[in-house]
Amino acid sequence: MERILRYLNPLARLGNRKYSIVFPLFTTLAGCLLLEFWGNVILHNPSATGIFAIILLLGMIVYFSFRDGMRGGLIASVITIAYYFYIIITRNQGEDQLRSSIQTVLLLGLVYLFVAATVGGLKQKLDRMIEGEADEKRRLQAIIHQLPVGLVITNNKGAVVETNKQLENIVGVKIPIGYEMGKDDSLVKGEHGMPTWPRISPLVQSISTGRAVVRKDFVIMGPNNKKTIIQVSATPVKNKQGKVIAAVSIITDLTQQREMEKRKDDFVNIASHELKTPLTSMKLYIDSLSNRLKDQVDSKSMRTLKGIQYQTERLQDLVSDLLDVSRIQTGKLHFEKEKFSLDKMINETVEELQRSTKGQKIIYSKKTSITVNADKFRISQVMTNLLTNAIKYSPPDTNIVISTKKNGKYVFVSVQDQGLGIDKSEHKKIFERLYQVGDAKEKTYPGLGMGLYISKEIIKRHRGNIWVESEKGKGSKFFFSLPL
Ligand code: ADP
Repeated sequence: MERILRYLNPLARLGNRKYSIVFPLFTTLAGCLLLEFWGNVILHNPSATGIFAIILLLGMIVYFSFRDGMRGGLIASVITIAYYFYIIITRNQGEDQLRSSIQTVLLLGLVYLFVAATVGGLKQKLDRMIEGEADEKRRLQAIIHQLPVGLVITNNKGAVVETNKQLENIVGVKIPIGYEMGKDDSLVKGEHGMPTWPRISPLVQSISTGRAVVRKDFVIMGPNNKKTIIQVSATPVKNKQGKVIAAVSIITDLTQQREMEKRKDDFVNIASHELKTPLTSMKLYIDSLSNRLKDQVDSKSMRTLKGIQYQTERLQDLVSDLLDVSRIQTGKLHFEKEKFSLDKMINETVEELQRSTKGQKIIYSKKTSITVNADKFRISQVMTNLLTNAIKYSPPDTNIVISTKKNGKYVFVSVQDQGLGIDKSEHKKIFERLYQVGDAKEKTYPGLGMGLYISKEIIKRHRGNIWVESEKGKGSKFFFSLPL
């Protein structure tokens, strides 16, 4: 029964582009035969069928146009017009009446054909649109299910309308359609029962603020109750008027990546600790050896010894940087604050480094006598980093200018060189861990990209700021600030 109804109901066939010829043909013919039978056999007055024929057959034309498109409507119209001709020929009319009947039928015929073409055309257009939309949806679903990340799409109230298989693999449960994000803790458990995603939902946040929320990390108890680290980003979808109509969230599993990073950090930590002890002993041996042989060996051997001494010191600096990076990563970089004179500390650093320049002159002119409360060793480490970079990345016989300035609650220190300069696009990146400007020219300079990262962490932890003003080829000016 349901199938018959679906077959007859034109609305149920919207989007179905299979248009029947046989059904409209035989049904309209059956309608005409029924009218003939009704007029001749039941009413015994064949002429009385006229008005019924107009209503019934027009209804059929509209129905078939809407059910089977232009083709259905035109078949019904042609049969109807033919039947009208049959009526006027068989109902013995006078010549005048016959002529006016023919005119009426021709006019009606035109109207019927117009109705069939218009309704049928509209129906076919609607079908094409619905089919196009369905194709689009299928394409989108194929993409959604092929994505290597978890995905949640909601309406503008945060109720789920679509998820993918990958999401289920990552979080270990299926988020059902209609589930309201940001509402409860029942679906996904956090570590030690702590509230987590999707109760804390970047997606809901993006809907309420109308702005994208990027890369928020959560710890969840994922598949098999295993601790899983996920990263969630969400973005609102807006209509032409800028109103939020939906939201999309991407969920990435970071567990493996974090494990790898931790293993790498552990390795660097252990390796640098293991390297530090023999290096310190080596340095002591070399120092004592060079002291003992000072007056006994020729100048060539002494130079070799000094070379070993210098390279050992460099190795010590490198290992010490590696240890600092690993301390930062594990949150073990500690500070011992004391009050000290900043300009005195700068003078000491300049004095020490001036000896190691490639001919550059370090000038500390604009001095301000300032006492700060900070970790002296670490702040001088920042100063040394900035100065060694200025020396490393600028040509000989140029000036490196340091200045200090008090402004409000901060003291500002700057180190300016006349060297390579740094492109604007790199200004933020150079403070990232192990980042070096990827230019082939710069690659010839030694280093591991740790100095500025360590400096940034030191200054940040002192509630100050560090940044650079520079242009490629026009030298660089590094600044840092410290609260007074
Ligand atoms: P490293 O100097 O060991 O490579 P840093 O963290 O100290 O590492 O610096 C990161 C990158 O920033 C360097 O590789 C270099 O490309 C760039 N840089 C730092 N200081 C300067 C400077 N004064 N002039 C030009 N480039 C610089």
